[in-house]
Amino acid sequence: MPFSDFAGNPDTIHRLREMLARKRFPQAVILSGARGSGKYTLALMLARAMNCLEPSFTDGSGGSDGLPDFCGRCSNCTRIAQSADLDSRFAEAVDARENLRDTDRKETRLFVQTHPDVLIIPPDPPQMMIKVDQVRHVIETIYYRPAEARERVYIFTASAFMKEAANSLLKVLEEPPEFATIFLLTENPGELLPTIRSRSMTFNLGALAFTEIESRLGQLRPDWNARQRALVARISEGAIGRALSFNLESYVAARSHALIMLKSALGGTDNAHSELFKVTESYRSGAEGREKIESLLRTLYSLLEDLMFLQSGTGQLVRNTDILGELKKMAESADFVWLQRAAEGLGEVERGLRRNLLRSLSLDAFATALEGAS
Ligand SMILES: [Zn+2]
Repeated sequence: MPFSDFAGNPDTIHRLREMLARKRFPQAVILSGARGSGKYTLALMLARAMNCLEPSFTDGSGGSDGLPDFCGRCSNCTRIAQSADLDSRFAEAVDARENLRDTDRKETRLFVQTHPDVLIIPPDPPQMMIKVDQVRHVIETIYYRPAEARERVYIFTASAFMKEAANSLLKVLEEPPEFATIFLLTENPGELLPTIRSRSMTFNLGALAFTEIESRLGQLRPDWNARQRALVARISEGAIGRALSFNLESYVAARSHALIMLKSALGGTDNAHSELFKVTESYRSGAEGREKIESLLRTLYSLLEDLMFLQSGTGQLVRNTDILGELKKMAESADFVWLQRAAEGLGEVERGLRRNLLRSLSLDAFATALEGAS
């Protein structure tokens, strides 16, 4: 999987590879971008390009662009690639720690490591923050020359640092060894200390065009038809990783519930009311209840937004394109004030959820409020 497989942001990739070629790669790099924009994928690609034992200089299409690439087959490439499925490696590391004795568990910090010279530092549960002991381990190892690679690579997968951890990281960044590179991945660079940002070089991974994502999905998800690909590309907001891992089935299920709720509120027929009751009833219990209701709320938001786009004459922004006709009909019977009130009501349900009010109560209240608003 060479650089040509990376989706989007060709200028950024080109600049990074040029710096590799000139041996001017910065020692601390911030990769910023939305969830699913490819920050981690790119960091692992760069780690392989730095350490590939049989580096090729082809661009994958047979021609040569003269810039460093990686083979994907040598022992360094394959071991680094084993970290690619971050969710699974993370779950394994958490499990391994759970199985330790109490005293050992408290002292064990979380890492993902499939190559001796490449260390991945995920946020540590349950707080999901980078902790000072994790950074201390980085400091303990970073000044040793790499054993099997040319470059030691450290990848912090999130920018939520405990205060002490951030201060420790700053010390490393003040005097990093020449043979190490630190990647800091973040959805929001503002979360990092200004002093950390000023010692790093920041690269932003921007959103991809819908058409680009649709065409990638055409190759990678042939099981989806064109309408489905168009929908997924829009709901994922230009983030290829989100598009590829999108759970279409559960989205469509949540959306059919959300549509019943909105239609019943707008139409107000008796039949619609009993259907609505059936929907809210199904959200009353179960351990998976919270996740289910959160996805219902997200879907309700996206539908309300689409209706607002239609009302304000910006229909080209609609994301649920596969049900455009249905949405247009609904937009005719809803006015802008009603939509706004519904969105506010939704916000209240979310706040109630956060305070752990009974799920069904707040959902019922929202349904009632929707009906009252029309
Ligand atoms: Zn290689």
